[in-house]
Amino acid sequence: MSHSDTEQVEQGCAKSSSYEAQQQALNRFAERYIKLVLAVGQHDCYYVDAYYGPEEWQKDTYWQPLAELQLQHQQGCEVLRGMTDELCEPELVERHNFLQTQWLSIGAYLDFLQGKQRSFNEEAVALYDCQLAEYSLLEHRQVLTEIDALLPGEGSLTDRYNQFKAQFIVPKDKAAEVFLAAVELARMRTKQHMALPENESFEIEYVNDKVWTAYNWYRGDFHSLIQLNQDQPLGIERYLELASHEGYPGHHVFNLLQEQKLVKAKQWLEYAIYPLYSPISYLSEGSANYALSLILTDEEAIAFERDVLMPLAGLEGDLALFHRVLKLVKKLGYYENYVSQCLTDKLVDAATAEKMLIEGALYPESRAKQRVLFYERNRSYVINYSVGEDAVATWVEAEAQTQAQKWARFESLLSRPLNASDMLI
Ligand SMILES: [Zn+2]
Repeated sequence: MSHSDTEQVEQGCAKSSSYEAQQQALNRFAERYIKLVLAVGQHDCYYVDAYYGPEEWQKDTYWQPLAELQLQHQQGCEVLRGMTDELCEPELVERHNFLQTQWLSIGAYLDFLQGKQRSFNEEAVALYDCQLAEYSLLEHRQVLTEIDALLPGEGSLTDRYNQFKAQFIVPKDKAAEVFLAAVELARMRTKQHMALPENESFEIEYVNDKVWTAYNWYRGDFHSLIQLNQDQPLGIERYLELASHEGYPGHHVFNLLQEQKLVKAKQWLEYAIYPLYSPISYLSEGSANYALSLILTDEEAIAFERDVLMPLAGLEGDLALFHRVLKLVKKLGYYENYVSQCLTDKLVDAATAEKMLIEGALYPESRAKQRVLFYERNRSYVINYSVGEDAVATWVEAEAQTQAQKWARFESLLSRPLNASDMLI
């Protein structure tokens, strides 16, 4: 902040409580927040998705009973409440608001770890700040009918879809080459619109036996590790999706912007930790899913797959038809939330959920099994992809006509993250 800005800000603050003092109080709360998240992580190894704050805070973390953590959480709620009357600048209110929403989700997660049951919809609010709309099964059936019309023939729609899709599956030995080409394009397109730090980079690892398809592990200092799961063969369309979702301008860029603009520039250390089951995941997954539509139009994506990725993978096929079908299949994302909801709320068992995915989301059996394992572990987390993407699209496009304006608004959203309820337009 420049000298004159500081003066202006201080004039706007109450005499008794200066801007600096309030920032200090929020800094202290950020430390409390990080330490509690790290302590919760001792009870669930998936909870801390990324941390690149002070090393000693991580080293000093020790195992504490959940009841003790719950007490610390309640004390923190009091501290947060005590701050609200004093905050004198929008920037401080925003920072407080982010910390408060994140903090409340920790309480909900501690409840969960202690066996308190919440319904799927209640959990979506408590962990992700997201109020879910009623899902319509009628719409779902209409989508299946439309897909059916595009893939005539004998047998079930799931079989026909998977037979049709088989010609677009990338052989395992070509996966690395195809993924690299997709990443290169995503990086180039993103750099045309955003100034990324010079030393930003990520490495790619190929792994097995995971419930997810790919994962970005942010390491700090503008570096990520991206893992690609080889359990399920992936269709050609997944490569641009994953390159943009995990890399540019998805998770990798989201994380580095927070590190650059909030952690390093402002010393807002709360952004140096990422609790997975918390409101930040809504924007994180939503923006990562939206990322592909920013770097390429549908036509450009098809052209790149046809001219570059398909030859690299040694594949041939009617890509235009494939993408017409895929556009409809994507709409089944909300049905997947519904299946996870039925499973979480114990309306169906795992075998029934698998069957629902096979018949209603057109998954082959092995992929349905993998998804059910993902739902069992993550429950309402799944809404962050589909509902989050639609929320990001609506927010970005509400005040952007051109592609350049969309990029600018997208970058501003990632640089100063909003919670789900703040994104409502
Ligand atoms: Zn993701």
